Amino acid sequence: MLMEREKTRRIKVGKIEIGGGAPISVQSMTKTDTRNVEKTISQIKELVTAGCEIVRIAIPDEEAASAFSKIRRKMADVPLVADIHFNYRLALLAIEAGADKIRINPGNIGGEERVREVVKAAKERGIPIRIGVNAGSLSRELLRKYGHPTPEAMVESALSHIRMLEDLDFRDIIISLKSSDVETTIRAYQLISEQVDYPLHLGITEAGGGLRGVVKSAVGLSLLLAQGIGDTIRVSLTGDPVDEVRVGYYILSSLGIRKRGVEIISCPTCGRCEINVAKLATEVEKRLSHITFPLKVAIMGCVVNGPGEAREADVGFAGGKGEGIIFRRGEIIRKVKEKEAVETLVKEVEKFLKGISPS
Ligand code: SF4
Repeated sequence: MLMEREKTRRIKVGKIEIGGGAPISVQSMTKTDTRNVEKTISQIKELVTAGCEIVRIAIPDEEAASAFSKIRRKMADVPLVADIHFNYRLALLAIEAGADKIRINPGNIGGEERVREVVKAAKERGIPIRIGVNAGSLSRELLRKYGHPTPEAMVESALSHIRMLEDLDFRDIIISLKSSDVETTIRAYQLISEQVDYPLHLGITEAGGGLRGVVKSAVGLSLLLAQGIGDTIRVSLTGDPVDEVRVGYYILSSLGIRKRGVEIISCPTCGRCEINVAKLATEVEKRLSHITFPLKVAIMGCVVNGPGEAREADVGFAGGKGEGIIFRRGEIIRKVKEKEAVETLVKEVEKFLKGISPS
């Protein structure tokens, strides 16, 4: 059972609201060289098509900042976050270019005067700042005090950055406390959520790639979300950022928090199976990946458990020997040969969607 969501402030990032009960948003980050405007724009488009609601872009130098400005102009509608480390000038350039949020840690930009300038610019544009504490980049003093990057050290770091902004009467703040260790991350978010009401951006950093990265992110984020902690999520995977967005939605939909697109329910197959469920499920999922409306499509290998699940789905398929039965909301529609199953299922889903969409 999910706990009630923690009450946080509501903060706007372009057209997306974060916190204060707004839907938990899914974000990702481009992995192209930001200076390559064309490639970066094309990756942003892929991310948006996959459902990414906020896109973060690294700004490592002035050339990247000027590329960011071009990207901003061409992608006017997409909430864009400029990710900056240490260099307050880059932050000012990104804000001037029209960033919807900047990620920067005020304690690392070289003094009060610089923080004041960045805060002034962010205030003028009405954009928030994300303080992003990473276990791997805590200050030497904190490491000396705590011995290693403990949750308490991460929280102390975040609070000191927060204080710098609050002293300048700036409260448009979002916080993240990421570690590659799931337990440390969870504890850090639990601790900070007891102390502040700023919205929290969740993520397990450097989770890795492949199945391990997906599982680590899913476990870490789900345990927090189930406690009502978290207002926006970013899954960090080594690999295609589009997968980060997909996994983000899979996590939210598994918890029943947000649904988007087609959820394929397919059986693991066993010795009773007489059709190629894996191939069928993969192909159907691919063919239906453009659908954003939440739907359940079941693909089951045999008539033992198959019809039960297939009946519960919006559109279902229960296999037999070289053929199968198609269901629509529990009713048998037709029998279909295995080799025509993908095509027929896709058509049935499209028909189903037409039937429910308001004309
Ligand atoms: Fe096996 Fe049939 Fe269950 Fe699939 S639905 S796992 S084929 S019993």
